[in-house]
Amino acid sequence: MEATLAERLASIDARIADAARDAARDPATICRIAVTKFHPARLVDDLYSLGVRDVGESRAQEFVDKRGQVAAAPDLRWHFVGQLQTNKARVVREAASVVHSLDRVRLANALEAAGEGADPLDVFLQVNLTDDPGRGGVAPEEVTALADHVATCATLRVRGVMGVAPLGEEPARAFARLAACGADVRTVHPGATWMSAGMTGDFAEAIAAGATHLRIGTAITGPRPARG
Ligand SMILES: *Cc1c(COP(=O)(O)O)cnc(C)c1O
Repeated sequence: MEATLAERLASIDARIADAARDAARDPATICRIAVTKFHPARLVDDLYSLGVRDVGESRAQEFVDKRGQVAAAPDLRWHFVGQLQTNKARVVREAASVVHSLDRVRLANALEAAGEGADPLDVFLQVNLTDDPGRGGVAPEEVTALADHVATCATLRVRGVMGVAPLGEEPARAFARLAACGADVRTVHPGATWMSAGMTGDFAEAIAAGATHLRIGTAITGPRPARG
């Protein structure tokens, strides 16, 4: 029989706790974000009623629309985890509690310009862990320069680094590179202690590498509906 949403949530949390224990880490220091892309806003309502307080989306328009459709949930944190076009920076900033995909100066400037008078926005610097420069993320050797720039943006707070393990590479190796980028950033920006890494298929390796924020989709939601 198909597991219910509550069962899938309990199961992933037990697996996260196991992985944390194996890595001698306290599971309470790890934020599990439920990635709800392609699912209806109703799923966010259901997750909220099960105690979920962190949800993630990867497409700007869907993110903004869904945030508008979800019933009042003042303590729900909305994480934007996908590629972000500069022309969507304003609407995403208005809807987001955290942006995981800041990967270039122009996007930092667009988010900053949209932030006048707003509370500071927590951001991760997304690092491209592939050797394809066309993929999202700043090159590892450029992440500290990007951090320096973002630190000059009064309404943005650099909290850490984010990455997606490339297909075909051992996730542990990719996450070790990401962790090294995070350490580089902290030599100048000691507050950047977060690391967003790990999805359904590789969260245990991410926890072992020091991830503080996991982005878990299908293990919680079940298979994603076809893209609209
Ligand atoms: C969809 C998505 C996830 C979740 O992926 P699953 O494999 O379903 O857990 C995590 N991070 C990003 C950036 C995504 O787009």
